[in-house]
Amino acid sequence: MNKITNHLPTAELQALDAAHHMHPFTSDGELAKKGVRVITGAKGVWLKDSEGNKIIDAMAGLWCVNIGYGRHELAQAAARQIEELSYYNTFFMTTHVPAIALAAKLAELAPGDLNHVFFASSGSEANDTNIRLVRRYWDVKGQPEKRVIIARKNGYHGSTMGGGSLGGMAPIHATGGIIDGIVHIGQPHWWAEGGDMTPEEFGLLRARELEEKILELGVDKVAAFIGEPVQGAGGVIIPPSTYWPEIQRICDKYGILLIVDEVITGFGRTGNWFGSQTYNIKPHIMTIAKGLSSGYQPIGGSIVCDEIAHVVGNAGDDFNHGYTYSGHPVAAAVALENLRILEEENIIGHVRDVAHPYLAERWHALKDHPMVGETNLVGLMGSLVLTPNKETRAKFAGKQGTVGFRVRERCFKNNLIMRHVYDRMIISPPLVITPEEIDVLIARAKLSLDEAYKSLVEEGLFK
Ligand SMILES: *Cc1c(COP(=O)(O)O)cnc(C)c1O
Repeated sequence: MNKITNHLPTAELQALDAAHHMHPFTSDGELAKKGVRVITGAKGVWLKDSEGNKIIDAMAGLWCVNIGYGRHELAQAAARQIEELSYYNTFFMTTHVPAIALAAKLAELAPGDLNHVFFASSGSEANDTNIRLVRRYWDVKGQPEKRVIIARKNGYHGSTMGGGSLGGMAPIHATGGIIDGIVHIGQPHWWAEGGDMTPEEFGLLRARELEEKILELGVDKVAAFIGEPVQGAGGVIIPPSTYWPEIQRICDKYGILLIVDEVITGFGRTGNWFGSQTYNIKPHIMTIAKGLSSGYQPIGGSIVCDEIAHVVGNAGDDFNHGYTYSGHPVAAAVALENLRILEEENIIGHVRDVAHPYLAERWHALKDHPMVGETNLVGLMGSLVLTPNKETRAKFAGKQGTVGFRVRERCFKNNLIMRHVYDRMIISPPLVITPEEIDVLIARAKLSLDEAYKSLVEEGLFK
């Protein structure tokens, strides 16, 4: 029996963690000095830590726990599947029922002719699959030189070498470099980069960078464009209304494959099954993960249109790609049960008719705060911008993100998980959040903003 349990004192767990556990996106040395927070349990939208705090999770873990924590039905689905068939692969002319059932269900839910699923264990892996899929597609079509993928600065597509290269995050690129054949254009981030333009003008301008890039590289060199309907990790950046229609027009005009990364926006986050439906986008491939299993099991995948699946599948040669855990039966069974709950409990209806309208009213009211410049919300993903001057959309002096970090620290202290991306605060709560829980979220957010503001004023950092 493992001797390391929830019953050990926090300090002991922290010391063991510091000694042996390397954390993602963390400076482990700094963390060891401060002491890591130990999460010991969760139910619904609430986390519990080793000090007995009850924390409201306005990030749904990492944007993934759509149906909320601790659902018995998913535990049962996993247990049943482990008893029946704990593992088998889907290589070499074999399959199993959970993979069949999940692929069929996803084909039913996904719009248009997205009827084929290639499974992975994460969003990053799925995007690596997409790189191979689109390059292989053009290769089989006799245009092997069509291999460049155009992506966006400050986009996020995961952290493997492929996913991290598709993403446009400079600190990730600086950590080990990027793979070849991927170029980045500007993001539709009006608040930070739109200058004197209206959001609509700016949305068009940024979309047209895609056309310029295609013409600069040559249509015969470009395989695909990839983007998130709403940039998540980049700071919940909701594009101007003109952006996606123009991107769609350009992809259609030049015959460029359109990969829409729905890892966050899928499975109800924006008030529809997929963000592509909210923004009327018609992708050739969708990347999925996170909400697919509500984070109960690691599973992701690519939902692929008829044309690409047909071409790649009938090339007369194998598609030489796959993961040991592609379509893992336990992960697939849990994802199926998650989709059943999303559907039968009408959780997306709850987002649309109850949670979004209620949260929208309260979230947008935070704009009255002296430090909040803009508030954004689509479905249940939102952001607010911290600024010293709402009119000029100014940035704080000094290092970007210092104020956002300070607000986040206050949130942690006030038992609210709200993240910051530089000086934007972001939320993405479980889709099952109730109006009463939204009241708690907003009260704690407001308290944290007030406390951070007060400390900045006292230190003379905010006049
Ligand atoms: C989280 C995320 C990924 C990566 O998913 P992992 O499961 O962490 O590999 C890819 N794309 C988007 C849009 C994401 O938010």
